[in-house]
Amino acid sequence: MIRHLNKNTAPIDEVFFSYQGEGIYAGIPQIFVRFAGCNLRCNYCDTPKSLKKNSASKYFTAQALFEYINDIYNQNKDNFFGQKPSVSFTGGEPLLYADFISELINKYTKNKFSVYMETNGSLSSEIKKIYKHCDVVAMDIKFKSACSKDLFKEHKKFLEVCKKKVFVKTVITKYTKETEFIKATNLLSKISKNIPLVIQPASFDNITNKKVLKFYSISSLKLKNIRILPQLHKLWKIR
Ligand code: SF4
Repeated sequence: MIRHLNKNTAPIDEVFFSYQGEGIYAGIPQIFVRFAGCNLRCNYCDTPKSLKKNSASKYFTAQALFEYINDIYNQNKDNFFGQKPSVSFTGGEPLLYADFISELINKYTKNKFSVYMETNGSLSSEIKKIYKHCDVVAMDIKFKSACSKDLFKEHKKFLEVCKKKVFVKTVITKYTKETEFIKATNLLSKISKNIPLVIQPASFDNITNKKVLKFYSISSLKLKNIRILPQLHKLWKIR
């Protein structure tokens, strides 16, 4: 572990074993690597402690992080039942550290761990650097009502890079507008109607079933693979 910042290190909040709690791979065992720092500020963020780089007290080199991941894997090996272990890079926004992750994968984890990249979908130039190593890209579409930015142009570029490995999640709150949801489904359908879309009702919000089902019906006009899924780890009371 290294406690000073230089270009060969990245700020890490935590590394731990758990089960994926969101999206179409919910329930699979994973090692989670949570990076500190994010370029967005969503009003529903459930990892506020990871938003600032300097919130992390631990800066790792790629080699030190690999050794840590390996330790966590060895402590939880039995939970993978002989399957290739999956590492979820999450945050914060992990693609702020794409060069670091590229070094980690190229020098250390390639062939040993599969790569599940959880991202806010706003850094298309960064995903290009590591896309070939990703097994799954779990991308959010962020609405202006949530993050005060219109990211649709950037989301389009991002989806064009990773359309073959991506599924998309949209968090729906009481503030989500129908017009922006329609825009998201139109964007996805132009890239590919087969991209899976997960409609995730925000866990803290008293969002009505009526609104969620309306959004389902809107997207089903354009897309072929849609699910409504809450955050399962919160129901399960695991992290
Ligand atoms: S992109 Fe993710 S980590 Fe960043 S503010 Fe939004 S919800 Fe939080």
